[in-house]
Amino acid sequence: MRRYPALLLTLLLASFAHANDGPASSPSKPIKQASAKEDGASEKKDTKKSSKDKEKDTKDAAAKEALQADELAAKIAERLAVLRKDKEREEAPKARPVVRSYAPPVVKKAEPKKEAEHGTAAIVAAMGGHGALHWGYQGEGSPLNWGKMNPSNAKCDNGDRQSPIDIRDGIKVDLDPINFDYKLSGFNVIDNGHTIQVNVAAGNFITVMGRSYELMQFHFHKPSEERINGKSFEMVVHLVHKDADGKLAVVAVLIERGKAHALVQLVWNNLPLEKNEAVSALSAMDLSNILPLKRGYYTYMGSLTTPPCSEGVLWMVMKEPIELSAEQIGIFHRLYPMNARPVQKSFGRMIKESS
Ligand SMILES: [Zn+2]
Repeated sequence: MRRYPALLLTLLLASFAHANDGPASSPSKPIKQASAKEDGASEKKDTKKSSKDKEKDTKDAAAKEALQADELAAKIAERLAVLRKDKEREEAPKARPVVRSYAPPVVKKAEPKKEAEHGTAAIVAAMGGHGALHWGYQGEGSPLNWGKMNPSNAKCDNGDRQSPIDIRDGIKVDLDPINFDYKLSGFNVIDNGHTIQVNVAAGNFITVMGRSYELMQFHFHKPSEERINGKSFEMVVHLVHKDADGKLAVVAVLIERGKAHALVQLVWNNLPLEKNEAVSALSAMDLSNILPLKRGYYTYMGSLTTPPCSEGVLWMVMKEPIELSAEQIGIFHRLYPMNARPVQKSFGRMIKESS
């Protein structure tokens, strides 16, 4: 009779000890253990029964007691399970801050990437990785080898809609004007190892031939990549836009030597000290100032002018150049004296121009 309370106490202590094992113990394990102890108890019950065969009343009472003990054991097991769950719940919030404390660095790491993204991570990649380091304009990484450097650059070698081209013999028509919806925008400047690139805040659009494209970034080449009737220019700005389907449209603004240009000066003022680290400008720029006054243009279908030289890019080259001072051109020259891909074969492409 007295064995049961002792057994129960053992069971209770064992279960409590287990419950304190910590977060590693699974909830099912202690319950299993408790039932094992119950089996042990019934074994002992049998021994007891056989030794006291004659005393039936006592036996009944013992059976009753055993039943009660079983019920009690079940109740205790149930209660312990609840206690254990409470304990786990208490521990759970302790674990979460650990996760959170790991989170901030992840978020911080992602942030600059995100910033670059509007500006262009996608476009940077699309533009052939103005971010990648292996290709360039001279030596082994020169444009003659771009196509061989990576299978994904195959178009650089075998494409028939490549850019830049020498723009000549355009068909003069009343071209649909490019509707520029450019505004005062925040920006950052990055030296990506191939050019100086300005990533602009969202919200600047062009609409042309019924399609709307958002400005992602603009960057510079020296000398100009495109030629007009064989003529090269000091520099060119490429304004890279993307529509909702990911199609690219690049507006090229040719640069001549002349008066200083305020917007370009703002870019030069924010030149980063280190490569591949975007410098966020404290001021905003009015992007419409990058455009010439007259808005006539040439247009043709071409490609990225950097690896992977992907085709399907709508090119619009403004007929009227803008001016930079000799000093401003000199600043870019110190960084990138030559970052222009040579002109590519036209393959009889249609070129249209504003009349
Ligand atoms: Zn470009």
